[in-house]
Amino acid sequence: MSSPNAESTAFRSALEVIRAVEPRVAGAIAAELTDQRESLKLIASENYASPATLLAMGNWFSDKYAEGTVGRRFYAGCQNVDTVEALAAEHARELFGAAHAYVQPHSGIDANLVAFWAVLADRVEAPALEKARARHVNDLTEADWFALRRELGNQRMLGMSLDAGGHLTHGFRPNISGKMFDQRSYGTDPRTGLIDYDKVAEAAREFKPLILVAGYSAYPRRVNFRIMREIADSVGATFMVDMAHFAGLVAGKVLTGDFDPVPHAHIVTTTTHKSLRGPRGGMVLCQPELAEQVDRGCPMVLGGPLPHVMAAKAVALAEARRPDFADYANRIVANAQALAEGLLRRGANLVTGGTDNHLAIIDVTSYGLTGRQAEQALLDSGIVTNRNSVPQDPNGAWYTSGIRIGTPALTTRGLGTAEMDVIAELIHTVLSQTNAGSNADGTASKAKYALDAAVADKVSRQAGELLAGFPLYPTVDLT
Ligand SMILES: *Cc1c(COP(=O)(O)O)cnc(C)c1O
Repeated sequence: MSSPNAESTAFRSALEVIRAVEPRVAGAIAAELTDQRESLKLIASENYASPATLLAMGNWFSDKYAEGTVGRRFYAGCQNVDTVEALAAEHARELFGAAHAYVQPHSGIDANLVAFWAVLADRVEAPALEKARARHVNDLTEADWFALRRELGNQRMLGMSLDAGGHLTHGFRPNISGKMFDQRSYGTDPRTGLIDYDKVAEAAREFKPLILVAGYSAYPRRVNFRIMREIADSVGATFMVDMAHFAGLVAGKVLTGDFDPVPHAHIVTTTTHKSLRGPRGGMVLCQPELAEQVDRGCPMVLGGPLPHVMAAKAVALAEARRPDFADYANRIVANAQALAEGLLRRGANLVTGGTDNHLAIIDVTSYGLTGRQAEQALLDSGIVTNRNSVPQDPNGAWYTSGIRIGTPALTTRGLGTAEMDVIAELIHTVLSQTNAGSNADGTASKAKYALDAAVADKVSRQAGELLAGFPLYPTVDLT
């Protein structure tokens, strides 16, 4: 443990140094802490990293170029970067029981690109090189290179549909993954909202993807990765899991056995800043046969790594290996379930009827609202959420019909199941007192809404009182 005042002193001193150069930046940093402290944050993808993790990022590691891998850099003088990168990878391997960890990706999307290109290199490029008896792509003839590039661009991916909770980076057209791959998606059962593994198997048999992707950012249930791997194997696909959202639940051993992706997937990607509670960044875990290709993430997809962020990853992963992190992960799920039950008891509709992970999706059509109206009305009332599609969403991806709520952040703050019931009451109060508005021509608006200011104020006050009992960063006093 650091001494009681060390954290306050560290952040206060840092702000003093910054203030001397550009006071508005120092002001914005301090204001961000105030805003975070005052907002009831139910955004499922956010969290609060520890002071040690935050401080590990603000230093001269940021000045260093370190292209390459530990011990094999293109720049001299990387011994200290080697130390932190090796430590972060070691903690990641131990924490997740992974054969290999690559901690350079700057974000979740980068981690996915590294994974896609590692698989393409292993399954498309390497055989083409072998066939041409070339050791390196530079040794290919123009004609062979042209043919290989066409083949790389003609591969298939099967991933979860966006409205069922999948992610843009799993082959959707607005993202580069959708331009790289011919993509098809599997959804969820329209009646239950659950993944129908028989349907996934059927889609895989028909489509024969090179990569089968599992993982989500808005699916409130566990995924059986053993079954998904069997499906991948049955069609010769590489099985990839993007655990960006639920890595903390894997780290904390809430998701084990069939629900732990690491023993089942060929390759696993994640962010480090969501339920894992580390710095903003990404990471790839993989089986030994993909390790060499994954380590080529730079220069394939990435430029120089961010050594200051890798240092923070090492700190956060060390924290996640401590026994109290498992307790934290269990409380995340207990809180999500308490919140879901509190809402259900008050008459809300939830996609799949509840949750067994860290998030839930409220279908707000039963309140006569779109996701957009609900999100804004909650925000007016001091409750920060985000709108989200529901399966077969009648309001489309912009207005949506859902509100996604998640508990990693509030659980870090120390709120428990009793507080979740209070929050369920606040959410239900706002949603049931909000009315959808209409356009000038009398048609229903998907954006306008009316909420009595007195209700919004009262809920805001109650939310503030609730949070006051659970100070955020209690060891950090900037005054
Ligand atoms: C958040 C998320 C990402 C993207 O992470 P960034 O760090 O924002 O790039 C990728 N995949 C899934 C499933 C996610 O939830």
